[in-house]
Amino acid sequence: MGVWLEGKPPADRVREFVKSEARRLREATGAVPGLTAVLVGDNKSSLSYVRTKEKACQALGLNGSVIHLPAETTMDALHDRIRALNDDDAVDGILVQLPLPPQLRTNEVIGWIRPDKDVDGIHPASLGLLLQNQPGLRPCTPMGVLELIRETGAAIEGRDAVIIGRSLIVGKPLAALLTNANATVTICHSKTRDLAGTAARADILVAAMGKAAFVTREFVKPGALVIDVGTSAVSDPETVRTLFGDDPLRAKDLADKGYTLVGDVDPRVIDKAGWLTPVPKGVGPLTIAMLMKNTLEAFKLRRKLG
Ligand code: NAP
Repeated sequence: MGVWLEGKPPADRVREFVKSEARRLREATGAVPGLTAVLVGDNKSSLSYVRTKEKACQALGLNGSVIHLPAETTMDALHDRIRALNDDDAVDGILVQLPLPPQLRTNEVIGWIRPDKDVDGIHPASLGLLLQNQPGLRPCTPMGVLELIRETGAAIEGRDAVIIGRSLIVGKPLAALLTNANATVTICHSKTRDLAGTAARADILVAAMGKAAFVTREFVKPGALVIDVGTSAVSDPETVRTLFGDDPLRAKDLADKGYTLVGDVDPRVIDKAGWLTPVPKGVGPLTIAMLMKNTLEAFKLRRKLG
């Protein structure tokens, strides 16, 4: 039987660090590190994510704000906004909440952000620095995954790591981070042959696909460290009962919200894994904590502070 690897303890530690550093920097410079999230449109999940980030900033003594633009915002109008944020000395971190409406070209938009304010770590310059293993701002979720792995005390160097998912925000940067930490990394995706067999060779398995409970026992090497990044809303009570039995919290979710959040990994895998992160309350809290840390990092980078 494996151990549930909860995100709260390491996330709390990162948050404490950010809080005390923010205080120290405020005393030393008189300035407060600030994050601005840009939200285009009214996607309900995105709205809730940016509010969470804003509140997290305020709780740690950082300035957090949201610029909410209409869904029909043009490329030119968004460019003007981002240019203004790039030039605003009070803004240390700029985050464009994804996904963007279809008329906005995501890669182009991300490329407008000043790299030293790119707290999501997905500007081409940030990703280049990551590949070069040079200091820079790193994507938050992959950094959170690394923090969770470190939390277990398990070795990374020389271990086989398999990542399912190759997105720019999770899979690919995580592969670079783990490679920089001397793991032997395999990235899998929808065209991978023998996905289960490949995954089952992993000492460290990370699922970042967005397919509820896809990763079952046959994907997992006994004792493996399994990190579940995926989140899917599942509303079918029968599926929920199969995965979680009579868990009252899941029943409450279904009653209150009509769905419950399920990871990419079937939770019953805990019988075979060494560690498994729960969904929710696994990777999620670390992603937010790392965003706060990146805001602090961006503040220091731009002011050339140690
Ligand atoms: P994404 O851009 O949709 O990428 C999904 C990846 O999974 C793709 O590379 C895709 O392969 C692969 N994939 C999908 N179905 C597959 C299959 N049947 N077999 C093998 N590979 C498959 O997603 P993302 O942005 O990386 O997010 C992934 C999940 O993580 C989502 O559920 C998201 O909500 C969650 N997430 C959580 C956090 C957090 O903080 N907890 C943060 C970020 C993301 P192809 O490239 O071949 O299409």
